[in-house]
Formats: sequence, C-alpha cells, structure tokens
Amino acid sequence: MVASLVPKQTIRTRDPKDAAELLRRGGVVAFPTETVYGLGAAIFDQDAIRRVFEVKGRPSDNPLIAHIGKIGQIGLLASELSASAERLVESFFPGPLTIVVKKSEVVPSIATAGLTTIGIRMPKSELALAFLKECGTPVVAPSANISGRPSPTTWQAVLEDLDGRIDCILQGEPTDIGLESSVVDCSVEPPLLLRRGAVSIDELRAVVPSVRELASGETGAEKSPGLRHRHYSPRARVAIGTGLPEGFAGRAAFIGMQTPADVFAECLIVNSAEEYAASLFEFFRKCDRGGVELIVCGPVPETGIGAALMDRIRRAAE
Ligand code: AMP
Ligand code: MG
Repeated sequence: MVASLVPKQTIRTRDPKDAAELLRRGGVVAFPTETVYGLGAAIFDQDAIRRVFEVKGRPSDNPLIAHIGKIGQIGLLASELSASAERLVESFFPGPLTIVVKKSEVVPSIATAGLTTIGIRMPKSELALAFLKECGTPVVAPSANISGRPSPTTWQAVLEDLDGRIDCILQGEPTDIGLESSVVDCSVEPPLLLRRGAVSIDELRAVVPSVRELASGETGAEKSPGLRHRHYSPRARVAIGTGLPEGFAGRAAFIGMQTPADVFAECLIVNSAEEYAASLFEFFRKCDRGGVELIVCGPVPETGIGAALMDRIRRAAE
C-alpha cells in the first residue's frame, strides 16, 4: 500500500470516480449498495484486504463477499458454475443476492478466509455499479461497520464507526433495502440458503425449486463462519414483543407495525415490512445515541422480506 494512504482523515466524496481511484491506489473505501454500505478493497490487494479486517475488528475466519460491476467478472472469480448458480445469476444479478461457488485459484485466500468457495454479488444500486465499473476489478466488501454493530444504512453511520480509519466514504442516499443480501450456497446440491435477505426463499424456488433452507438446529456456521459471530447488535438490549417486560423501568424504545401496548421514550411505527427493514438498523443506532437501554421490536409475518427482518431481530435479541 502507498504510505500516503494511511488515513489521517477520511475523504468524503459523491463522485464514484474519485472513490474508485483511491481504491485502485490501495485504499479501503466505503460505498453504498441497495442493501447496506460496504467497506471495499481491491480483491488482489492483500494489504488492503488485511486493513478491512483490521479496521472492522472482523474475525479472520469470516469470509468477504466479492462485488462485481460486470457479469463477465464471475469467470475470473469462480472455477465452476453449477446450472443452479447460472439460473440464479440470470434471474437475480444485479440485485440483493450473493451466490457461493467454488473459487478460482487467482483469488487470494485471505479474501475467502481460507475457504475454497467464494461469495459473489453484483449490486443493482446505480452508484455502486458506477463505482465498481470505475474500480475495474472485483471489490471484496463486508458491511462498513465495526464487527458486531448494526450494519450501516447511511454514510453518517459509516462515519460514526470508521471515521479516521478508512480512506474514503462514497456518499450516497440511505440504502433502499436496509438488510444484507440473501446468501445461497451453490457449491452444494441442492443449493442452501445460508442467510435470509430481500430475495425470499419463494422467489429463489421459483427459479431453482430445489433450494433448501437451514433446518432448525442447523446454524450454517460450518459452511458460513460469519453466521457464528454476534451480529447486528445495538448496545441496548433487544426484545421481541409489543409492550414492556414486567417491571422494566428504564429508558425503552419501540419499533414495529403495530401500536405498542405501553408508552415508550422512542417510538417508530412503520407501515410495511419493507419500511421496517429499511429503518431497523438506523433505529438501533439512534437508540444507542439516545442512551436507550431496551429496544422492543414488534414481530411481523415471516414472508417476503419479513423472514429476513425477523432473522436479524432474533440475532440482535440473542
Ligand atoms: P457481511 O459482508 O459482513 O454481510 O458478511 C458476509 C456473509 O457472507 C457472512 O455471513 C459470511 O459468512 C458469508 N459468506 C461470504 N463468503 C462466503 C463463502 N465463501 N462461503 C460461505 N459463506 C460466505
Ligand atoms: Mg456484516
């Protein structure tokens, strides 16, 4: 890495060309996608990838997702593509779906945490695609937060966690979806949904009917080490419900689609599961800034994005 790029100050820009230039020179650059903000490094730059792990405090056994700006880049990253993987790419790229496939030898093992597979996604956000095309190389990017914290859905949230520790933030709008991508392991048959996201199991099965979900008791952690680590957590305790737990007298907040049964210091009523998903992580952060001790999350039906939403809420409540 170029010594001058050791950050003293995090550059903020709205120009994808400027952000891409910093990445090409060895920088680590946060950028918006339709899911959450990512923290990118060029996939063949092992020093930059090492810094991504360092600044996030990310366990080194947690693999990164490679983000591409052109479908053609899959051929560089994957050593083989199953028929299921091909069908998923045709239907859902660009979009909020990550496929896991056998990796090619050129991909450095630090990027995949030593796994022989690689997660690949092509975001559909226009700014993300403009940035990735300018980078001219696949970009590995985990979410641009300190590990364990809620993923950032605004550039301000990236700054809150990583100011002065990364080279650049490409500033865009708040992310549309607000939850991380669906992850499907296509290196096995039948393909396995490792992480729920905006592409639902029903949508996946409409294209590849054999896709299976993790069985109860199966965590996916053997296949996807990231699932083992604590995730999405505000400092406040998180509970699922519509009212305060018996005897709780501290500062509490509520988010959900129903009117809560008690009075809360902070209250956000959303009109749809989509709006709930888009608001959840920023609400968690707002509660932390306001010294909230307990966040009560109203439950939603587990269909469509509701399944991914309840997955994140349950993990935060663990
Ligand atoms: P993040 O980018 O922080 O949202 O985390 C990426 C998620 O994708 C984690 O849960 C990883 O375990 C998972 N993932 C990335 N690459 C692979 C892979 N090669 N095999 C299995 N899971 C992966
Ligand atoms: Mg993450």
